[in-house]
Amino acid sequence: MWRTILLGVSLSLPSFADRIHAQHSPEPPRLLDDVRFLSDNNLQGRMTGSAGADSAAAYLARRFSQVGLQPAAGGWFQSFAVRREATGTRGPTGGAHLGKNVIGILPGHDPVLRNQTVVLGAHYDHLGHGGFGSLDPDSTGVVHNGADDNASGAAALIQVAARLAASPPARTVVFIAFSGEEQGLLGSAHYAKQPIYPLADMLAMVNLDMVGRLRNGRLIVYGARSAKEFPALLDSLNWYAGFDLKAQGDGYGPSDHSSFYAAKRPVLHLFTDLHEDYHRTTDDWEKVNYDGLKRVADFSLGLVTALANRTRPLTFLDQPPASPTQTATTTGSGTSGYGAYLGTVPDMTGTPGGVRLVGVRAGSPAEKAGLRGDDIITRIGRIETPDLQAMTDALRSHKPGESVEIVVRRGAAVTTLKATLGDRGG
Ligand SMILES: [Zn+2]
Repeated sequence: MWRTILLGVSLSLPSFADRIHAQHSPEPPRLLDDVRFLSDNNLQGRMTGSAGADSAAAYLARRFSQVGLQPAAGGWFQSFAVRREATGTRGPTGGAHLGKNVIGILPGHDPVLRNQTVVLGAHYDHLGHGGFGSLDPDSTGVVHNGADDNASGAAALIQVAARLAASPPARTVVFIAFSGEEQGLLGSAHYAKQPIYPLADMLAMVNLDMVGRLRNGRLIVYGARSAKEFPALLDSLNWYAGFDLKAQGDGYGPSDHSSFYAAKRPVLHLFTDLHEDYHRTTDDWEKVNYDGLKRVADFSLGLVTALANRTRPLTFLDQPPASPTQTATTTGSGTSGYGAYLGTVPDMTGTPGGVRLVGVRAGSPAEKAGLRGDDIITRIGRIETPDLQAMTDALRSHKPGESVEIVVRRGAAVTTLKATLGDRGG
């Protein structure tokens, strides 16, 4: 993460950590190996333009290829010039350094949607031998390995690529390991200016930067207010993941997603928060929480899959909504919308013919009415609900306190339940 801006504000949001935890699949191969390789002393802190950064770039391209990605149009590497003063390095070599973004793609399976993309990014550069960017005053000349910042994100990027390649989604997914981040988001700014795939056809960009220090299950997701649909999507995914999720903020922040938000695209930044080793010589692989990193990778996989498969566009939000009630992580049919509150947690990945629920909130009107996970809502009152938008519209047409019939498919049966709707503060 870029040093010059630090965000420390955390909005308190409901946690479902004590409810359902995702089934942990077996330890993925090489997550630990990838972190260790990238944060080894051999790579000398991966300063942009250095031999160590070039080794890291070659390694990442090889790993992308191994897990089933194809090189981007134009190849695995996108180079950009870095002014010498920007790198903070000293030495006899003249001229500009070259930074290299590493780009692999997974073509989408849908003949139409494959022309659109979702970008998953993580920077792999770090601070080299300190001096510039380091928070250790006496550390100039000492290698800064940057295991959490951001070997963790790069390793998770490979992990998501491997899992997604086994079952490609509808849209094309572009995996980018950025360089030049620590000098001021240089690699991502370069890509945003000269995108290999047009940004107008990019549904969203997801950034993994510092995801290796999960503590107390707390995952921060910045940019949650950069698209109208994000809070509900994150909430739905978290129903299974069980993080203490802090989803908040617009898309500006001290990392690569900012470059895409500035181009007016929806963005998300996953982050396991700052720690005492941030930008110091002690950010080493031994301190990474690998179980936590795997959970973040799993969550990212679900997020990218949902984005790459969704049938509807996202609604970019330039100005965050003024009302603080709309900043919370809630469902479209929950407290964030307008009209009456039901308290369902819909499956945001979509189900034909209705809105499938992953669960209902404790004490909510939905729970009291007898709704439960796996129910598929097909009608609320007189309004058919083939999808979430229709369900949101249906709830908006009612007032808190009204009693409505809700028709659900439950297995082979069709059941009609009666719910007394709450208000959206409930
Ligand atoms: Zn950093």
